[in-house]
Amino acid sequence: MDVGATKIAAAVASPEGEILNRVRYPTPNSRSTLLETLAQAISEVSEGFEVAGVGLGVPGLILAQENKVIFSPNLRAIEGISLKDELEPKVGLPVTVENDNNAAAWGEFRFGAGSGAEHLLFVGLGTGIGGGIVMHGRLLRGAQGAGGELGHVTVQATGPRCACGSRGCLEAFASGSAIGRRTREVAVERPDSALGQLAAEREVLGEDVTDLAREGDEGALSVLKEAGRWLGIGLAGFVNIFNPELVVVGGGVMEAGELLLKAARREVHLRACSPKRELVEVKEAALGRDSGVLGAAAFEDLAQKEYTLNP
Ligand SMILES: [Zn+2]
Repeated sequence: MDVGATKIAAAVASPEGEILNRVRYPTPNSRSTLLETLAQAISEVSEGFEVAGVGLGVPGLILAQENKVIFSPNLRAIEGISLKDELEPKVGLPVTVENDNNAAAWGEFRFGAGSGAEHLLFVGLGTGIGGGIVMHGRLLRGAQGAGGELGHVTVQATGPRCACGSRGCLEAFASGSAIGRRTREVAVERPDSALGQLAAEREVLGEDVTDLAREGDEGALSVLKEAGRWLGIGLAGFVNIFNPELVVVGGGVMEAGELLLKAARREVHLRACSPKRELVEVKEAALGRDSGVLGAAAFEDLAQKEYTLNP
């Protein structure tokens, strides 16, 4: 299951990563209905299938030992619930809880753009920016299980406030909400651009920026190029630290695809050290919206790997 701030996606997947059945529910915003909805989605989607267990990808910081989300600014209702303890008796299946972007990283590693790579970073561009790190074929979680937050590395000390409470994080420059903020500014700076004209009529959405950029509007192009540059500045640092073979970029903002990634790759090649910058490939996620749900489905095998693999 991929539990998002607005939608819950549940799927039954085969061990090979083939989706056999799926359901979607809107995410309720109260604690009690959230648990009920999760249980209902599990029973509905798994009917008629022999299901071995449930993997939940959820937004926010997770304490791995307690299987609990402690901080989730975009889905407050999920904070503090012992998801594993509450859900297991309701559904009669073992439940594993993991951060949604870790799940997406694992999905891309197992079944998507990362098939074949042993060292992969996943960056999820949505309202915010999430991350997942796979090194030596293992998910890196850190001491408390809350690591891998690639969106909250500072790229400009005096930059805008970030949802995490800090300033100038990568998320504050290259996320969907950062793109929205820059769009409003550029619309004022360039009133004659198609972007500026649209903004005078109605609210400009993320997909409008992408559409206008594809049509060649300079205003929209500059917004995406700038976000892509910031993304690349962040990625260059990650490449220097982790020396991955592959950086996979996913999330809703990747509708803009190469409009963002081209600028990001340029920064990586300018800033990351040789020979790491020659090795690394920066690619779009291959599983689209399914990277999270497929990664969550493969948690069972993740748990096995964690305990049996010698580093
Ligand atoms: Zn932040």
